Amino acid sequence: MNNKVLLDNLRCIPDFPKKGINFRDVTTLYKNGYCMQIMLDELYELYKDKGITKIVGIESRGFVMASALAGRLGCGVVLARKPGKLPATVIKESFSKEYGVDTIEMHLDSIEPDDVVLIHDDLLATGGTAKAAYKLVQHFNPKKVYMNFIIEITDEGLHGRDLFDGIELTTLLTI
Ligand code: 5GP
Repeated sequence: MNNKVLLDNLRCIPDFPKKGINFRDVTTLYKNGYCMQIMLDELYELYKDKGITKIVGIESRGFVMASALAGRLGCGVVLARKPGKLPATVIKESFSKEYGVDTIEMHLDSIEPDDVVLIHDDLLATGGTAKAAYKLVQHFNPKKVYMNFIIEITDEGLHGRDLFDGIELTTLLTI
């Protein structure tokens, strides 16, 4: 599903955080009330009947819509964070990114086996970050896992989606 209003409001920053990277800046969608409404309405339509009990938001841009949607669905939010940020016992997963190696962590008590989980982030590029989040969530062996991204990048030879064969994965914008 490709919404022209969202596309028109998405800012692109060339050469950030380093030369050659075309950074899609979702803060221009987050700061716009109409875009927030469009994104939240679309997400709600996609997930209102899935029985989602927890949304895992990936730090930090994933926290925004994860929280907004959780408020609509009446489900919980779980934070997948960069190392050293979560105070209780964590599980962690490292992964390679476009710009180096990174790690994400989740609290060990954040998901139960009877949870239905939606993993959400702002953007899917190589899929490395989301794969690490998926592996963390699988550790808890929940009933079902869904995945959503506001933006999916396919125009730079990226095929992040291919890492999630057999998993229900939706995006609001494909670029
Ligand atoms: P991947 O791991 O799929 O290569 O990259 C996606 C992750 O990196 C997401 O957590 C996302 O927030 C961040 N990221 C990478 N490139 C961009 C970009 O162009 N725009 C934004 N907003 N985030 C990006």
